[in-house]
Amino acid sequence: MSIKYIFITGGVVSSLGKGLTAASIGHLLECRGIKIAMLKLDPYLNVDPGTMNPFQHGEVYVTDDGAETDLDLGHYYRFTNSPLSRVSNSTTGQIYETVIKRERKGDFLGKTVQVIPHVTDEIKARILAGSHQENNIEVVIVEIGGTVGDIESLPFLEAIRQFRYERPKDCINVHLTYVPYLKAAGEVKTKPTQHSVQVLREIGIIPDIILCRCEDELSDDIKAKISLFCNVRQDLVIDEKDVAKSIYEVPIELHKQGLDEKICKALEVKSKPTDLSRWEKMLNTVLHPKGKVVVGIVGKYMDHQDAYKSVFEALHHGAIAAGCAIEIRRFESDRIVENGSVEKAIGGCDGYLVPGGFGERGWEGKVLTAKYCRENQIPYFGLCLGMQIMIVEFARNVLGLKNAHSTEVDKNTPYPVISMLSEQKRIENLGGTMRLGAYPCEIKKGTLAFDAYGETLIWERHRHRYEFNNEYKEMFESKGMVFSGKWAKGDLCEISELPSHPWMLGVQFHPEFKSKPLVPHPLFRDFVRALALKPAMTGAWQG
Ligand code: GLN
Repeated sequence: MSIKYIFITGGVVSSLGKGLTAASIGHLLECRGIKIAMLKLDPYLNVDPGTMNPFQHGEVYVTDDGAETDLDLGHYYRFTNSPLSRVSNSTTGQIYETVIKRERKGDFLGKTVQVIPHVTDEIKARILAGSHQENNIEVVIVEIGGTVGDIESLPFLEAIRQFRYERPKDCINVHLTYVPYLKAAGEVKTKPTQHSVQVLREIGIIPDIILCRCEDELSDDIKAKISLFCNVRQDLVIDEKDVAKSIYEVPIELHKQGLDEKICKALEVKSKPTDLSRWEKMLNTVLHPKGKVVVGIVGKYMDHQDAYKSVFEALHHGAIAAGCAIEIRRFESDRIVENGSVEKAIGGCDGYLVPGGFGERGWEGKVLTAKYCRENQIPYFGLCLGMQIMIVEFARNVLGLKNAHSTEVDKNTPYPVISMLSEQKRIENLGGTMRLGAYPCEIKKGTLAFDAYGETLIWERHRHRYEFNNEYKEMFESKGMVFSGKWAKGDLCEISELPSHPWMLGVQFHPEFKSKPLVPHPLFRDFVRALALKPAMTGAWQG
């Protein structure tokens, strides 16, 4: 049986939730017993999103093999069991880099190197590489970033046109579009959809299925209109309306309209009846929680929906494991100032989380958050930079090391308790050169970390240049800090915790990348449990 391909494009506007839709389709196919792989093709020129500001791009999702990738891979991870690695995300930057390197090597000697066929061949080669990264992959879901009509996405659309031309029986195109409701006219409008499909057809791509993002279910009349104008059978025009409470409702809603069945039919793949029982059970917990906890996140990009995507999701997973609801309050760290007003600025939550970050802005507000949590016995969870903050705060206020700092912010600090990884000191290029990807970590028994993992060896993903400076280790330990996780080979402290506190823990890695709604990450589960035990100021917990 040949491998089948689903190409997903987006029309009209961005931010329609194409990644979420692709991941939901992946989930539904897996629930029918199909082995899938998910790929994301990004039309921007950066080689990867690692050097982009979170305001521009949102979170950078890191894979086990250390690729810095698009945040949609996080959705794929949370919704599916697709293999995810460097092969799963290609950008225009990478594609041109490869083609130009080959040109310099002389691979195309005598030829003019062009978008068609050289760039499109490289795109197709990457789709094939994604299909063969593991044995027995049956269906590959390829999401094309951007919106149809963008100049940048043209080579990708041309490549998938050719790909299908070469395998007419093995491919379908799913187009996700927007069908707005115009309040003033009191009407739902199909014209933007007609236009975006028209653009696709000009390129030679005819969608097999149209998914319509909309506020409310579409009437048969509207579907008939889209069907007629877009040359797609009416039963293959499917609405994807806004979900009421949780993004984890999306697969269920799509299944109700038979989307997975229709895709399997169109691709002629054999499959079992869809088994959504585990997902439905999980969703039931989300929709009917017992009690609520409130967590404050103190970061730098709080107004940006996607900058800490995996962190938000992992907190929701922790709440699923604890069976409660979670309210996330967002605090901009540079708005927190001393002079006794920390409580005023961020008070009122059951606990606080400080996520990863780079650079000086917002540092001191985060240090004040750690101090506030330590002194008031409020749960604190530090991720990557959040652990470094916990260390710096402890150094300054418990060990009395005045102006202790990370050398990332203060190169001349008298107490560099966080300093650059030795391997980082030789690095000149900033792209893709941090300590990246999965590393093993040994867990000390009798600690919060061991309580959570229940194992003495775990693997977690990293993305940082700085680390705890071991010269200060004994000093920290003498005042009660426990380093409960260690990368033995490099002698690096990966987890810090305070046994004298109900739950204060920092990790030098990013556990949020490895949490799923069906398999909540143990540290997020235990953090949320700690919040539930401490209905400090909200008093909301009744579970
Ligand atoms: N800026 C810090 C470092 O490079 C933390 C990085 C992070 O939080 N991902 O070590």
